[in-house]
Amino acid sequence: MGDIDNSIKMSVKWNGKEYELPELAQSDSVAMLKVAIENATGVRPERQKLLNVKFQGKVANDNYTLSELNLKQNLKIMMMGSLEEAIEGAMSKPDIGEEVVNDLDIEEEEIDVENQEIYLAKINKRVKDYKIKVLNEPRPNKKLLVLDIDYTLFDHRSVAETGFELMRPFLHEFLTSAYKDYDIVIWSATGMKWIEEKMKLLGVSVHPEYKIMFYLDYLAMITVHTPKYGTIDVKPLGVIWGKYPQYSSKNTIMLDDIRRNFIMNPKSGLKIRAFRQAHLNRDKDEELLHLITYLKDIATFCDDFDTLNHKKWEKYRPPRKSKHASKRKAEDNSDSSGAAAN
Ligand SMILES: [Mg+2]
Repeated sequence: MGDIDNSIKMSVKWNGKEYELPELAQSDSVAMLKVAIENATGVRPERQKLLNVKFQGKVANDNYTLSELNLKQNLKIMMMGSLEEAIEGAMSKPDIGEEVVNDLDIEEEEIDVENQEIYLAKINKRVKDYKIKVLNEPRPNKKLLVLDIDYTLFDHRSVAETGFELMRPFLHEFLTSAYKDYDIVIWSATGMKWIEEKMKLLGVSVHPEYKIMFYLDYLAMITVHTPKYGTIDVKPLGVIWGKYPQYSSKNTIMLDDIRRNFIMNPKSGLKIRAFRQAHLNRDKDEELLHLITYLKDIATFCDDFDTLNHKKWEKYRPPRKSKHASKRKAEDNSDSSGAAAN
């Protein structure tokens, strides 16, 4: 498939100025193009009107791939759209297609087998071309934790004064604990500028108790086609594994509130409950507190994460030395105070 390797270089003209865009693949989606434009101009995707990006004469929706639109090399995209306040924009910036996808979250993976090779080629291309800015070097014998941002670590849509108010409860405790066993990567379907801004506002980027290995943005994602949901952008862990062979499905776990994001690695993903309406739920949300225990337990007791079923993470109990272990496990029903094991 020559298609995959065909990249397309474009610029966008807006408010009398021209902005260069990063090279995109013909197989990337319109959603990714819009994030690229946002990263260059600050105009949010839902506010962008791309006058000459069309499919059969009509406005192209996010789920088309660029190749379907027959865009010309070096196209100058004409855009109309309005800017929002920088900070407010950063904090309330939704992931690609997030608002739509939440309603049709994918329960089971349905990647076309016939397309697997195309996706592997795309992943290889990301491994080759995507430049990772390493903030902190990987450490020997650590496992890998990959985290989404929006609705996973904080509520990006609620009205609040500060990053602190939007932050998911126990965020720093969670990262502090996880850092002991895992190298931590943050992967968001937004532009790098926004990721850096958010992590600064949340106090994650300079925390004394833990360090982030690196951030990944939308450009590390790939566009895939599913029979049921059409064209979607996903986060394939193979991009990281290809660059860092010490990590694999055996020692990697990814947390995201949208299951389709780990459709390429369904067994490595844990779908975290979305954290919304921060102002109402700040006192109630204990998801990260419970996940502290789970991540600690599996890091301690499990040599091969492929053997785990993250869909049942709340039911997981580490093996005990006691001979009554299995019995106790069976009896253990709704005991959610297990978070104390740490
Ligand atoms: Mg999210």
